[in-house]
Amino acid sequence: MAASFVDEIFRPYAEHGGDFYGENVTQLEHALQCAMLAAEEGASESLVAAALLHDYGHLFEGRGDLAETLHRDAHHESHGAKSLRRWFGLEVTGPIALHVAAKRYLCTTDPGYEAALSPASILSLELQGGRFTTAQCRHFEARTFAADAVRLRRWDDSGKAVGQETPGLESYRALLERVARI
Ligand code: FE
Ligand code: FE
Repeated sequence: MAASFVDEIFRPYAEHGGDFYGENVTQLEHALQCAMLAAEEGASESLVAAALLHDYGHLFEGRGDLAETLHRDAHHESHGAKSLRRWFGLEVTGPIALHVAAKRYLCTTDPGYEAALSPASILSLELQGGRFTTAQCRHFEARTFAADAVRLRRWDDSGKAVGQETPGLESYRALLERVARI
């Protein structure tokens, strides 16, 4: 009974986790790399869960490639956070909801960040509204989970290594059960 919600969370990874993230790694590989980077940096369990699940909203029918195919922003960060709110508190869904804003923030505040983005991230940045203005940066910084979202964003940008070995999805089952608010 207690494990069933994790099965529900994992199901879209089984169904769509093999879809390409857009940069020669799959959605599942990207999720697992981000979670591993978070754990290696000693992030809290809720932030490791956020790293693992940050692109959950990409895993539903067609959302993953909307940017590439339809040149349209699917707002995967809000869809993902909203779906995950059934099981998790804001300490997990907050950073997820802000991980795109964190990219727009870093493009403005971190010299060199935008130049180092992958082609897929640059395409989606444009669709997501581009760099933040100074006022938008101040507004972002005031959000409760802004700092966690920026950390998540760094793992997101690094979690695209082709052929990288990682622990599998099942290795996060117990962590997700501990972090869940159900
Ligand atoms: Fe994302
Ligand atoms: Fe991502």
